[in-house]
Amino acid sequence: MTNPESREVRSALLRWYASRKRDLPWRRTSDPYAIWVSEVMLQQTTVSAVIPYYERWLDAFPDIRTLARSPLQKVLRAWQGLGYYARARNMHRAAKEIVRRFGGRLPVEAEALRALPGFGPYTTAALLSIAAGRPIPVIDANVRRVMMRLLEIRGGADSRTEAEIRTALETLISRRAPGRFNQAMMELGALVCRARNPRCLSCPVRGECRACRLGIQEVIPAPRKTTVTKQEAVVAVIRDGGRVLIQKRPPAGLLAGLWEFPGGKREPGESLRAALAREVREELGVELAAARPLVMVKHAYTRFLVTLHAFDGRLSKKDLGRLRKQTDRSRRRWVSLSALRRYPLPSGSVKIAEYLQDVDFSPVFP
Ligand code: SF4
Repeated sequence: MTNPESREVRSALLRWYASRKRDLPWRRTSDPYAIWVSEVMLQQTTVSAVIPYYERWLDAFPDIRTLARSPLQKVLRAWQGLGYYARARNMHRAAKEIVRRFGGRLPVEAEALRALPGFGPYTTAALLSIAAGRPIPVIDANVRRVMMRLLEIRGGADSRTEAEIRTALETLISRRAPGRFNQAMMELGALVCRARNPRCLSCPVRGECRACRLGIQEVIPAPRKTTVTKQEAVVAVIRDGGRVLIQKRPPAGLLAGLWEFPGGKREPGESLRAALAREVREELGVELAAARPLVMVKHAYTRFLVTLHAFDGRLSKKDLGRLRKQTDRSRRRWVSLSALRRYPLPSGSVKIAEYLQDVDFSPVFP
């Protein structure tokens, strides 16, 4: 992109942003911590979903020191439902490091930020440009799409494309208002240069857009093929009076550190009941005496569609007694239905927990 075009695009974009930007809570603050929280939450999540989480988060953890000294379970509980829990765990770890190494203030050097957990190129660029006025371009899916259309970059979003976009943005970014420029690019992609049905007629940079001139904006970027895998899982709701048994997932891997009902994936060719009996045996070391279907819930993750079959699971008195005696509360707990609300659970388990709160949870077995 040559300089005259850049000047046109830059000033049209900033003018448009000044008059059309959405009034969002994180745009009313200059607190780097609050901006950091919003940028992390907005990754992979829509603005409307983020707003209530953002507000509740800042009530619960108003500053880095409070976040750093809060227990991980409370942090994960506040994140429950936003998905990609690694983001919350990384923020918690980063907050501890910021307190330890920087006295509780976010550093404003790229190198120092990049060394903190969870600070990739996107978060670092967003924070430094918005909170510290550094002219570092932010590239997210919205910005990538706008730039590919403006510059008529065909094909998929590979590393060559990424380098081309970055080079162009380094020329294009406003030195005077880099934070506003980055936000304007993201806002343009979200509101106008949308993936489907871009609103070219109301676009401030239409005059400079090569894809629009050629009428090929709808096919840039080339659509990505995503495969969604279907999975089936079974869980046992095992009761002891008014309490149910939950266990903690391992500290690393998918949904790390969250609590859930015992269970797991159904193997190919296995019946639901056989899968349930096997999972209970493998996870709890006891035999299921009987099981009755309770509820079936579905939950979509990015690449999976999981159908979760919950059973009311009964153990023999002897096995129940054995489980009661297990004292490792860091891994396994008996909790009342009202206490269940305080535990961070994956979305599928939340739906089952909600079902249990709604129904009369009297014994299902005769
Ligand atoms: S003119 Fe259309 S395709 Fe080009 S940047 Fe604007 S909205 Fe996107």
